[in-house]
Amino acid sequence: MKISDYLQNSATENVQKALEIAKSKQDFGALLSLTEGRALERARAVDAGEFEGRLKGVPFVVKDNFLAYGGPSTAASKMLESFSAPLQATAIERLEAEGAICIGKANLDAFAHGGSTENSAYGPTKNAFDPQRVAGGSSGGSAVSVALDIVPFALGSDTGGSIRQPASFNGVVGVKPTYGTVSRYGVVAMASSTDTIGCFANNSDDASLVMEIMAGVDVNDMTTLDHSWADTPSFTRKRVGVVKQFMTSDVDEEVRQATIRYAESLESQGYAVDEVDLPMADYSLAMYYIIMPAEVMSNLARYDGVHYGHRADNVTTLAELYGKSRDEGFEAENKRRIMIGSFVLSSGYFDAYYLKAQKARTLLIDEFKKLFENYDVLIGPVAPTPAFRLGENTQDPIKMYLADVMTAPASMAGLPAISVPGGLSNEGLPIGVQLIGNYKTDRALLELASQMEGIA
Ligand code: GLN
Repeated sequence: MKISDYLQNSATENVQKALEIAKSKQDFGALLSLTEGRALERARAVDAGEFEGRLKGVPFVVKDNFLAYGGPSTAASKMLESFSAPLQATAIERLEAEGAICIGKANLDAFAHGGSTENSAYGPTKNAFDPQRVAGGSSGGSAVSVALDIVPFALGSDTGGSIRQPASFNGVVGVKPTYGTVSRYGVVAMASSTDTIGCFANNSDDASLVMEIMAGVDVNDMTTLDHSWADTPSFTRKRVGVVKQFMTSDVDEEVRQATIRYAESLESQGYAVDEVDLPMADYSLAMYYIIMPAEVMSNLARYDGVHYGHRADNVTTLAELYGKSRDEGFEAENKRRIMIGSFVLSSGYFDAYYLKAQKARTLLIDEFKKLFENYDVLIGPVAPTPAFRLGENTQDPIKMYLADVMTAPASMAGLPAISVPGGLSNEGLPIGVQLIGNYKTDRALLELASQMEGIA
């Protein structure tokens, strides 16, 4: 359902219905908790006329790495299992100010480390189209909540693809905005230089509305941009580039065909489509898996068993307290990234890995800049395959990392990128198409996607 369908009903009706569907679809493992008490209370306040706004009485869910009132904020980790947030994320505050009502917390890979939601400490989320398959990740629970029509929109975070990839696997729209568009305040930090806050919706207009409401400067996040969503100019050149590096034979044929079909639809609407070259895209994954763990390692240092989060029992020394608390609180994938991050930042390797990766990142940004001198938008697949089977890749972290090959470039460059539904595979699995725009063209990207809905 669309957001506008909800605006016709009372908030209480909307919230009750959403809770009911959520409970009936529990087997998908999309939600870690329902914030039922607070949601119903807020619905009553909305119905009593205490809130007016563009999302009056509209239910939504947030990825559980957002700090939110009404229940625990776990980041799907044992570390934060009983953590009750003392504040709420700016993004949620802004939506609530417009009358929206958060009804639950969605599943994710613990601390957002992963691409399938199988790294959650509380069990995986299942794909909305085939419960034998993964939801994608790390924002798998949010994507599936929208795909199952529990709510019309959901919030997620995207550091290297965590909104776009699950959107693609579940046939919904997913938006990763320009870095700094939405405040990261109150969201558990993963890799601070690429963490972005975005959303999932059933259509591009709803996604654009939600983004517009969340976007803007926040005194609590110094990296937020002063960019007016509503005033972003539309695309005028009508030129689209299909990224050559995203269309190699490593990519599933049906996935490539979805991008080709989308490109043909754009041509039918008067867009000129060229194949374009982005050579540094081939190094983006390597950059990402050096820079991201370095930042992860720094951000996760705060979980020491002392300040907050899980605290181990039966320890005798401070070192043991740190070690045991972290050992028990983190998942294997979290630990792997802490180890890689510590390695790439260590004195003998800093220049060879971290510094080199940052230099390569600058080259990638330059290549994107050159392309956007001539093109409005670049397109390609989101992920190399449709949703894979649960358990299929869990034994092989490298295989999991390789699935991020087409989402890492926009993350490394801080560019806006969205995933839009591009049809179904022969097996009936959704395939997404990725649209990447220049800085601060987020609104225009969604406008283009909206125009293509029903055509592509
Ligand atoms: N799949 C990517 C990873 O494992 C993306 C994670 C994210 O964007 N939070 O790092």
